[in-house]
Amino acid sequence: MPTSFKTLAELCEKLEATNKRLLMMSLVAEFLNSLEPEEVEPAVSMLLGRSFPKWSQQTLDVSWATLSKTIKNVTKADWKVFLEAFGETGDMGSATKILFESSKVDKQSTLFERKLTIVEARRGFEAIAGTVGSGSKEKKQRLIEALLGSASSLEAKYLAKIFIGEMRTGFYEGLMEQAVSKAFQIPLAIVEKASMTVGDVGEVAAIGKNEGKEGLLKIGFEVFRPVGLMLAQTASDVVEALKEHGGESAFEYKLDGARIQIHKRDDDVRIFSRRLTNVTASLPEIVQVVQKNVKAEEAILEGEVIAVDSKGYPVPFQYLMRRFKRVHAVQDMVEKVPVALYLFDILYLNGESLISFPYTRRRKILTENAEEIPLSKQLVTDEMKEAERFLEEAIDAGHEGLMVKKLDSEYTPGMRGKRWLKIKPVLEPLDLVIVAAEYGYGRRHEWLSNYYLAARDAETDEFLMVGKTFKGLTDAEIIIMTKRLKELTIKEEGRRVIVVPQVVVEILYNEIQKSPKYKCGMALRFARISRIREDKTPEEADTIQRVREIYEKQFLKKGTYKTS
Ligand code: AMP
Repeated sequence: MPTSFKTLAELCEKLEATNKRLLMMSLVAEFLNSLEPEEVEPAVSMLLGRSFPKWSQQTLDVSWATLSKTIKNVTKADWKVFLEAFGETGDMGSATKILFESSKVDKQSTLFERKLTIVEARRGFEAIAGTVGSGSKEKKQRLIEALLGSASSLEAKYLAKIFIGEMRTGFYEGLMEQAVSKAFQIPLAIVEKASMTVGDVGEVAAIGKNEGKEGLLKIGFEVFRPVGLMLAQTASDVVEALKEHGGESAFEYKLDGARIQIHKRDDDVRIFSRRLTNVTASLPEIVQVVQKNVKAEEAILEGEVIAVDSKGYPVPFQYLMRRFKRVHAVQDMVEKVPVALYLFDILYLNGESLISFPYTRRRKILTENAEEIPLSKQLVTDEMKEAERFLEEAIDAGHEGLMVKKLDSEYTPGMRGKRWLKIKPVLEPLDLVIVAAEYGYGRRHEWLSNYYLAARDAETDEFLMVGKTFKGLTDAEIIIMTKRLKELTIKEEGRRVIVVPQVVVEILYNEIQKSPKYKCGMALRFARISRIREDKTPEEADTIQRVREIYEKQFLKKGTYKTS
């Protein structure tokens, strides 16, 4: 029997009500067990707040402006109720539920009232994602109305959460892997490995349900299905990096560009961004370079594209972003913003996964297959002085710093760890999320030009404010930002608007101070925006724990001054 969306929503309520991980995991395992095979992946995605599997190219693209308008239409309730509820709960899903409860529209009298199933909800999402082009806003609105129109207040709560991609039940991916392992009696290590390879635990769950352990053991890479990226942690200097890696490391230039994953089969080349979206159309010359040089029949490669001037020197990241935004007249941009590709890894070659090979071996295979495409400049050393010179050289050449890679390390998709470390020698910029904004004064009075910056609390998923800034963006950027933030506005408070935490910005600052002004107890001093991180999601932004680490390190440094 098809499972209703209501059952999923009720499960989410139970998850929200407890913080006992084991209990959460058992509840989900039991639920997974009860599902029909075709329901497993959609249900897993939804429980994690996703409308589609992670690697999918489909996105709902529903702005908060559209969603709130639809919610108003469907409920015909007083919007004040929503705002008050949001003020109390700080959660859009809960506020939506309270608004639905106060709705005057009588659901019982609807002639076609029927139960929404999990599969129907997914079909609804697919229809919404499929509307593009002119008039799509209205069409999307109608489709959302159709979904919400037949939803109970509890279902509406979780539909709204999935629409904005923020579940907040405290149930995260690692627990989902445990639940899959328990539900289908497959060893956790096998589930985790499959999840890393496929890049999506929902799909792993579906295979687990249908084919069991054997199915998961068979899983390999598939060309054209993007793989989760291996990510790096920060190291303060080369000494720390060398120590972490047991005395010897590979140091590579850290290029200030955009990470890409290149998939190739014969002459078909597709390129995926850091967020795993298909950006092939924006980078025609990279496609050509790969077609010309990479002779392997099938390969998955990784590298960084950087924008360069006529002499080949790197130019700031903003210029590069123009390439990705441009949908039309790509050719025009190809001439205006030339780019260069530097490869740094290879994950798959002619039917064979290379991710469990050590770094050094992958790098050798990469060298053999890249032909004339340059690799990131590299130095393998156990000498601190030599590594420091290499860092200076990278900075002098206009790059950001160094990436340091452990020589015997596997490639671990989707994981941030210490096997890759990044060293950026300046006070490390923070990627923060805009949670509110204020209209400026004088010339800027119609623009949202003063931004409230927050870091995510990794323990509670809450966004905590750490500073404010009106510096760093050009007028043109402020105008675009205003438009974007208006679309994301949840609530207006005089000249201030509270927005859905979605826009990530890179922030430079001089110091982190202790401050009673903010809940987290810290505030950034002289914060300024250095760039808009279109390539990062709010979940990927820096955490409050990271801010605290930098804060504490400042004192360590100050301490050494005193004693020396
Ligand atoms: P961050 O974006 O600050 O977390 O730094 C990690 C990013 O640095 C990666 O995702 C890549 O986009 C980029 N990067 C630049 N050069 C390299 C390199 N040689 N190896 C790996 N990543 C690099």
